[in-house]
Amino acid sequence: MNDRICRAIAAMLIGLASIIGAAVILGPSVSSAAAQTAPPPADHPEVTVHGRKYTPRSILERNMGTPEDQTAQFPPHKIIGNLYYVGTRTLSSFLIVTPQGNILINSTYERNVPTIQKSVEQLGFKFSDIKILLGTHAHNDHQEGDALVKQMTHAETMAMAEDVPALQAMKPGGKDHPIDKTLHDREKVTLGGTTLTAHLTAGHTHGCTTWTMKAQEGGKTYDVVIGCSLRPPATLTPEVIAEFNHTFPVVRSLPCDVPLGDHPAQYNMQEKYSKLQKGVPNPFIDRAGCRNEVDIEEAMFHALLSEQQKAAAR
Ligand SMILES: [Zn+2]
Repeated sequence: MNDRICRAIAAMLIGLASIIGAAVILGPSVSSAAAQTAPPPADHPEVTVHGRKYTPRSILERNMGTPEDQTAQFPPHKIIGNLYYVGTRTLSSFLIVTPQGNILINSTYERNVPTIQKSVEQLGFKFSDIKILLGTHAHNDHQEGDALVKQMTHAETMAMAEDVPALQAMKPGGKDHPIDKTLHDREKVTLGGTTLTAHLTAGHTHGCTTWTMKAQEGGKTYDVVIGCSLRPPATLTPEVIAEFNHTFPVVRSLPCDVPLGDHPAQYNMQEKYSKLQKGVPNPFIDRAGCRNEVDIEEAMFHALLSEQQKAAAR
């Protein structure tokens, strides 16, 4: 055996030893990290809305699906006009295409960013053409990937003021969360002839943002509502109660032809996608479905509130 091969084998053995060592070190920390994840929400109260039963647990399961659902690419598709879906099976990501560059809403988990990039490219667009990065709310499953998208595209990032502290606490791999511009309720974001309006619809987070825009198709103009999650937290503080009491009427007042949401199950994406065929009316135009999600979440909010008030009175 010559010297070179000897050294190569020694290097391999050292490499192997360090991998085993890392696995030993990582083992317990990975399992304790898993143990730190929040327990599933309670399976009560139960509400029935439009003939279906929901509990806090069933709503979370409906939204998130399996870990695989959260990362698996959903076929990227045109929703309406210049608006496209580029997210995973259960985490929405929307692309708005304009002649002056594109807008991305929700980067989702950082590990999903390459999948979103792939979806953008499969639709025939360039990831580097993303000029503005927006989000619906400061939770990791919707905005953890912002820093990586910013690195890759240099997009301008904008966030609702009330979500800024929670976003600043989100530091995947130690990266600072990028916030180039702070927005306020009903502020408008315009690029290449498309205007998005940021509506503060707090409760799920303090800066939860519902985005509205107009889309053109077949010579008609449609009101699009990209809803922020309205799922109430397990404990309703006076602040959160006040936020939801403001938010539900706001959401109900928004003009809406095309309801969308930050989890596809909020607008039955899979069912609508399966109906997408040329020559049939666009299934994403669904005025009758515009209030479904607010009906479910408002019923759940009141059920949780009365459960909490009864417990406090005991
Ligand atoms: Zn959330």
